[in-house]
Amino acid sequence: MSVRNHRAEAQERTERTEDRPSPDAVLEIDGVTKTFGSDCAVDSLSLSVREGELLTLLGPSGCGKTTALRLIAGLERPDEGTIHVGGERVATAGERAFVPPERRDVGVVFQDFALFPHMTAAENVAFGLADWNADDRERRVAELLEMVGLSAYAENTPEELSGGQQQRIALARSIAPEPEILLLDEPFSNLDVDLRVEMREEVRRILKGAGVTGISVTHDQEEAMSISDRVAVMAEGRIEQVGTPEGVFQHPRSRFVAGFLGHASFLPGYISGDLVETPLGPVGRDRIHGLAAEYDYTRIDVLVRPDDVLARPAEGERADGRVTYRRYLGPTVLYRVELDSGETVEAMHNHSDRLSLDTPVTVELAAAHDLAWFPAEE
Ligand code: ATP
Repeated sequence: MSVRNHRAEAQERTERTEDRPSPDAVLEIDGVTKTFGSDCAVDSLSLSVREGELLTLLGPSGCGKTTALRLIAGLERPDEGTIHVGGERVATAGERAFVPPERRDVGVVFQDFALFPHMTAAENVAFGLADWNADDRERRVAELLEMVGLSAYAENTPEELSGGQQQRIALARSIAPEPEILLLDEPFSNLDVDLRVEMREEVRRILKGAGVTGISVTHDQEEAMSISDRVAVMAEGRIEQVGTPEGVFQHPRSRFVAGFLGHASFLPGYISGDLVETPLGPVGRDRIHGLAAEYDYTRIDVLVRPDDVLARPAEGERADGRVTYRRYLGPTVLYRVELDSGETVEAMHNHSDRLSLDTPVTVELAAAHDLAWFPAEE
């Protein structure tokens, strides 16, 4: 039986499900590579971002996110490839054509906000508007302070503002000159946990309100999924997958993406007609996403996440496995169940559920959505 190259098929599937950028992209990165010595930080990266979109580069430490951001800002020169901002070619490898950062229509919000400590909030916001006439400048500053909810703090200096307020001023300052693109480098890393969640909503609201095209960088999956229109998952200098948060989470193109975006277990399945035989019993073939006929009578691995799985004490029924791990997380409890067949699955339950270690359990696939899958590994 010939099995088509899975990656090509996965790509096809993703392209069908993905919300693709329009041709009128504000940012176009084409085949960009950047190496430092023998270290390839960004490897043949291509990406386009459409006007008004908020896209997040997401990936583990060292995958090249910051280098990608610095290439867009003009703080690094590409070794290969081209970058266009607002239709203007701002960088091409091997040519002198290189638009320096200050002449690119790109704003940056730094991790530490980098506000000028001796200036008031209003003066900070006005910083990039030196060539505007005084009336327009005053109007723009007032408009932005209102947008970020800090009109009453116009005369305060940064040290008189809370972390969240400082971030709002930093955003207002970067948006003020109406850049084509706003880059946000780990925008929430300097805020405490509670404020981070609040500011995610707030930053998205402000950027959307201003109609700014934003590109942010983070290694925090939840943050990326909660603020972004699209997420680009990176590994080792390359983009593994770009798509809507729902698209990349539900239909990951690779096991890496599946595992990086949340807990992932892989349940072996054998495709037999309309059913997929698994250690948890048969699953309807129609519950497996985009399973092509070429895969009939082959082994696959079905992606199951903890919220797809329900474990119950076996109580007389034949158990599927035993609870081997339990982690209380406040609102939820994460269980790991070792199946009699040898595989392990995880189940996320409400915090009031009590399953002790070693309890024999039945395990049900409770997901209402279709399930992603990968060809079995040899
Ligand atoms: P983090 O989340 O930890 O900030 P990152 O995904 O942003 O990581 P980068 O900072 O872009 O990753 O780094 C990618 C790779 O390039 C790493 O191996 C890093 O050591 C290397 N690198 C980045 N900048 C430089 C530099 N100026 N000189 C040498 N190597 C660099």
